[in-house]
Amino acid sequence: MEQRYRELRETVKNACASVARDPNEVNIIAVSKTYPADAIMELYELGHRDFGESRLQELQPKWEQLPKDIRWHFIGKLQSNKVRRATEICSAIHTLETSSQLKELYKSDRRCDVFIEVNIAEEQQKSGILQNSLDTFAQDVIRCEQANLSGLMTIGPVVKDPEQSRPYFEKLRHLGEAIGTKNLSMGMSLDFEVAIQEGATHIRVGTLLFGARE
Ligand SMILES: *Cc1c(COP(=O)(O)O)cnc(C)c1O
Repeated sequence: MEQRYRELRETVKNACASVARDPNEVNIIAVSKTYPADAIMELYELGHRDFGESRLQELQPKWEQLPKDIRWHFIGKLQSNKVRRATEICSAIHTLETSSQLKELYKSDRRCDVFIEVNIAEEQQKSGILQNSLDTFAQDVIRCEQANLSGLMTIGPVVKDPEQSRPYFEKLRHLGEAIGTKNLSMGMSLDFEVAIQEGATHIRVGTLLFGARE
């Protein structure tokens, strides 16, 4: 784990250097879904604090058991009726995409960082809002006091060559610039270097750190 973590940080640093970015601008979210609390603690002890989970059911017991200074990033599909609970546990929700989720956010007692998920390649079956609804939705999110609109998030299409992700990441950056948000949650184990070159501020890395999921 230690070696993989060190290598990942080195790769992040190099990707930043290749486009003259400051590595401190890039937050590594260690995606710990399906991995046990022990594995999370291993990384925690190396000083890592940002972890990503995609199911509240799985996160809840981990949250109960693990140190409270962990910053949990919710990155999975989030049912409206779980939004409030998610804001209590998580420091950021990366997958805001519907008005009914937003309605539930209004009922929350805690202000939460949110990313709007964009279906960047307009793939059927994929979650995230479409580009042409982004502007209106972003205005709605900005009006909600319980939400701090941090940026945009996307899960790009599955690609063989990471270079194929570049146009999608570039597009997300342009969309973010257009609505004036600061952060971009994009890039996973296979394509985070390209994502960093295109401006990612939050990369979501699972397999590369923890090994293949079952
Ligand atoms: C699982 C997951 C990741 C991590 O994927 P890896 O390929 O294991 O790095 C990133 N983002 C989301 C939304 C995920 O569901």
